[in-house]
Amino acid sequence: MSIKLLMQLGKETYQVLEELSKYSKEGPGVTRLYLTEEHKAAYSYLEKLMTDIGLTVEVDNIGNMIGTYTSPEKTNKTIVLGSHQDTVRNGGKYDGAMGVILPLIALKHCIQNNIPLKYNVKIASFGDEEGVRFATTYLGSKVLAGTFTSDLLDRKSEYGNTLKEELISFGLDPNKIPEDKLTDDIVGYLEVHIEQGPVLQHKNLAVGVVNAIQGSHRYTININGMAGHAGTIPMPLRKDAGVGASESMVELTRYLETIENIVATFGIVEFLPGSINVIPGEANFTMDIRSLDEKLIKDTVTKFDQILRDVCNKRGLTYTLTNTNEAPPTTCSDTIIKQLETSVANVGSDVFTFPSGAGHDAQEMKNITDMGMLFVRCKDGISHNPLESVTENDLDIAAKVVVDFLKNYQV
Ligand SMILES: [Zn+2]
Repeated sequence: MSIKLLMQLGKETYQVLEELSKYSKEGPGVTRLYLTEEHKAAYSYLEKLMTDIGLTVEVDNIGNMIGTYTSPEKTNKTIVLGSHQDTVRNGGKYDGAMGVILPLIALKHCIQNNIPLKYNVKIASFGDEEGVRFATTYLGSKVLAGTFTSDLLDRKSEYGNTLKEELISFGLDPNKIPEDKLTDDIVGYLEVHIEQGPVLQHKNLAVGVVNAIQGSHRYTININGMAGHAGTIPMPLRKDAGVGASESMVELTRYLETIENIVATFGIVEFLPGSINVIPGEANFTMDIRSLDEKLIKDTVTKFDQILRDVCNKRGLTYTLTNTNEAPPTTCSDTIIKQLETSVANVGSDVFTFPSGAGHDAQEMKNITDMGMLFVRCKDGISHNPLESVTENDLDIAAKVVVDFLKNYQV
């Protein structure tokens, strides 16, 4: 591969991603939600890209588009590369989309340069990953991995329609979803994704190999006290649920600042009745807690339960701590980590391996095959934001890594 050619790979990936970003609701940024007109329109563009390089294209019944390259080796063994087409509202051009387009351009390079590929290659564009519309994530990869459960079809969209109804209006057949589980002999899954964090920029590296994905547990917390007049009730006599919530959050945060390898976020906070002159009688808030160490997460939740108990006892409050979601930490497969590290070295980059702080489709794909991820540097670690930014040069390096990986992949 000449340097000139590779510069073209990065340039082409960049340009295609620019074009794909136009399939969006009006800005700022990209808003391409699952099962919308923009999703459908983006697929006609993507289908053309895939058929132009000779892939067989299908859309499955959850709305994933899959392009298949058949190896001349006449094998049933297949590598899957992919990511999600959907964005958050007012998101960026790269989160998800890059993991579909970059492998497609890399595969195109292999096909057009007669680079022999031992295995079939599927490029998957997952319809939904972000979970913006149906309050659930990874719908697309769940179907391929066979972990989709039919109760998800009753989830309601922002318009009150069920997922089942919306799939039908999109022209899909929800009854056939179980048939869409991948049945080929899948020998690996690679997801290319922007890092969504600042580590690669800090290390001055274009790409990094992911070795694990943090687990995340989510909770809602309800604290009850007594609402009252902001002027008449002396401080020691108050049962202020808002202060109880704040004190608990600050106390856990101070504790976590003294240990490592775990993060907690209180992203939604609500005090009721929510009036400037009324002591809050009720507080509701959320906690998202993440680590690579499942036991550390559980121990920290136990610690938080103790903090809540102490604070509420002291202030005459009651509380409930309710678990709403648990995704365990996922380790990437050693064989893919090693082969990716070799490919990164082969293209002349420094090898750096680190965990992902965010969740990805790769976690679902781990249920059926060896899984790995390649992260690409994004400016200032910004994502889920119109300011998401990736350079052509970094895309070049990532595309080179994927070409090398495809060329040399060994089961
Ligand atoms: Zn993503």
